[in-house]
Amino acid sequence: MHLARFPRLALGQFPTPLEALPNLSRYLGGPTLYIKRDDNTGLASGGNKTRKLEFLLADAVRQEADVIITQGATQSNHVRQTIAGAAKLGLKTQVLLETRVDKFGEEYQRSGNILLDNLLGGTIVEHLPAGTDMQLAMENLADNLRAQGRRPYVIPGGGSNAIGALGYVACAEELLYQSSQQRLRIDHIVHATGSTGTQAGLLSGLEASNSGIPVLGISVRAPKARQEENVYALAARTWQLLGARGELDRARVAVNSDYVGEGYGLPTAGTLEALRLLARLEGILLDPVYTGKGMAGLIDLIRKGQFKQGENVVFIHTGGSAGLFGYRQLLEQQAAQ
Ligand SMILES: *Cc1c(COP(=O)(O)O)cnc(C)c1O
Repeated sequence: MHLARFPRLALGQFPTPLEALPNLSRYLGGPTLYIKRDDNTGLASGGNKTRKLEFLLADAVRQEADVIITQGATQSNHVRQTIAGAAKLGLKTQVLLETRVDKFGEEYQRSGNILLDNLLGGTIVEHLPAGTDMQLAMENLADNLRAQGRRPYVIPGGGSNAIGALGYVACAEELLYQSSQQRLRIDHIVHATGSTGTQAGLLSGLEASNSGIPVLGISVRAPKARQEENVYALAARTWQLLGARGELDRARVAVNSDYVGEGYGLPTAGTLEALRLLARLEGILLDPVYTGKGMAGLIDLIRKGQFKQGENVVFIHTGGSAGLFGYRQLLEQQAAQ
């Protein structure tokens, strides 16, 4: 691959560490676990969106945008990182928030990511009800701004288009380099999948490099068939943008949707167990929406024997711990038990 062909800004700190999880590995008695610390990308408490934004905001600069528009759920990590990245460029971000979750009280509405969004200077234009066509709402906002003579740049939810996915092609390259530096044969990669850019970019990068490493996305929202379709569609567009030869094999797209529970942003008992285990065994903070569910899936699949002793499994920590503060009530109830 030749990623230097694409405009890119330096917004984060890379490479992120690839670390062992010795205590969790021992506790579970299964494969040898590693963690790729994309929670440590460095941009306003970090996370996976930083990688995507290096390419997306570079594209915005190339197009001489003077304002950024994006959208997400109330506790969106993507929105927080977008506002922060744009701030570094001297640009303001106008945000539309979708009220997907409405049961964790005032803190969910005001603390965690949303507190940081305001501190970072983002403008929350509107809170819209769950199920709103958010892409359309952003296009309407962009039209209004253009009518006022502005030059908006619209970043889709999660930064998940082919340009954003290049960030995870870069992560695939970084992982392969670290694997050879650390003499670490990677047998599986597991991570939480939502808006699909992470998995689409990783898969494109790993397949275009002929690495042969399988990637399993643990869905935080959509059912398996739909999520796999969405990941594949974006991976195919990313593959094209990369100019990779041939076609990406559809059979390489693997999603497990058994750990969604009641829905997006609603932690399950497994999510809470995963949060506690990583905190207490490894001193690592996961998040209640994505990595908690992704890790809950990995733990359960290990217990079911899907990953075996002697295999090396890398979990990608995609960030999100700022969201913990929006879930204070739930986490306190849990801690009291
Ligand atoms: C957005 C996000 C994800 C999911 O990544 P996608 O590229 O949207 O699939 C996972 N973890 C965290 C913490 C996120 O914020």
